[in-house]
Amino acid sequence: MSHSAWQAVLERLDEAAELAKLDPDVHRMLRTPKRTLEVSIPVRLDDGSIEVFTGWRVHHDTTRGPGKGGIRFHPTLDVDEVKALAAMMTFKTALLKLPFGGAKGGVRCDPSSLSLSELEGVTRRYAYEISPLLGPDSDVPAPDVNTDGRVMAWLMDTYSMVSGRNAPASVTGKPMAIGGTRGHAGATSSGCLTCARVAFRELDIPMVGGRAVVQGFGKVGGPLAFLLSSAGMRVVAVSDIGGAVYNEGGLDIGALSDHVAESGSVAGFGGGEMIDDAAIWSIDCEMVVPAALGGVIDAGVAERISAPIVVEAANGPTTVDAQPVLDRRGVVVVPDILANAGGVTASYFEWAQALQGYPWDEQVVAERLRQRMEDAFTAVWARAQTLSVGMRTAAHVVAIERVAEAIAARGLFP
Ligand code: NAD
Repeated sequence: MSHSAWQAVLERLDEAAELAKLDPDVHRMLRTPKRTLEVSIPVRLDDGSIEVFTGWRVHHDTTRGPGKGGIRFHPTLDVDEVKALAAMMTFKTALLKLPFGGAKGGVRCDPSSLSLSELEGVTRRYAYEISPLLGPDSDVPAPDVNTDGRVMAWLMDTYSMVSGRNAPASVTGKPMAIGGTRGHAGATSSGCLTCARVAFRELDIPMVGGRAVVQGFGKVGGPLAFLLSSAGMRVVAVSDIGGAVYNEGGLDIGALSDHVAESGSVAGFGGGEMIDDAAIWSIDCEMVVPAALGGVIDAGVAERISAPIVVEAANGPTTVDAQPVLDRRGVVVVPDILANAGGVTASYFEWAQALQGYPWDEQVVAERLRQRMEDAFTAVWARAQTLSVGMRTAAHVVAIERVAEAIAARGLFP
């Protein structure tokens, strides 16, 4: 995503605001993030020199609760992208009825060029600089692209040191040893699986034996490919940054995972034939799952997708001009703010457990996650039918109405 990511969010907000007959004052409030903090992050590198990185933390809206949203480390990150992702978190948390607002943050850096101690230095100084915003009842970060449990542990430790007390509820996606939740790792993927199941059911298309194409084989795409194949689907193609692999009979995802663990990419996997990356979109199948980057389904790609279902595991994979093409062609798109909300839902469970100081069983986490995802899907599906619009628009309408209701209930300060 780039500068246009924020424009895309505004366009989607404007469209939904009109359909929801949103109060124009509330509409204007949601068109502007509540606060944007830009920080400078000086870090001493291993060679003794000092590099100065730039980072941000954005709160889009916090009416429904503390800001919630990931921390992204990426060399092309900019403030418009962070604003867009923060707004998407406002909608996502409202859609799942989580008691949070929308936030996002990150540092413009290339983590692949940093040593472990440099990465820790970037994380800790960034956490310190944004610490005035952080806290279990004000802003609760989580992992995002290029950040993980280890980075969350450094963040939680830095915040705890700065605030002078142990604060496990200040960050989610933490390792189990310091208050992480069971079931966090695969939560986004299993949320996508629930969405896929209900979509197949609503469209009366058999899922078992159906063919799926998955772009991206990382933290989301990898476990999701496995879950889809365990659910009886044939995952016929998978791609990652190294290439794309195809097998008409269905790839052996366990063997593919082993291959990726050894070689770092799906490229060169013996259980299928290598195909051109771009060719994955034209493959005959029942479901396409973008689980890598934003902006990959443009209008041209949308013309080539033959599947009746697209489940957006990635954030922002479909461009604004691609959506009408998919609508015209009758493709049901389960939008990102619904499809990939399993991760933030598990984060909510982690926060609640940390506040209670009482861990839940894995089955409790899994069942509550499935139920919330199914309820959110059902609410969006029903609204899409009544308004005769696609699921993306319906999801924004449902979310915006919930945020507007909270804004109206609280009134305007002072
Ligand atoms: P990741 O870094 O673990 O994996 C990304 C995958 O995409 C890798 O397999 C990578 O090789 C592949 N990829 C990168 N460039 C590609 C290209 N040009 N063509 C094909 N594949 C390419 O990231 P992730 O955590 O799996 O996140 C993937 C997407 O899901 C992102 O959009 C992220 O914002 C979104 N998301 C993730 C979570 C989560 O829980 N991790 C939650 C919500 C949304």
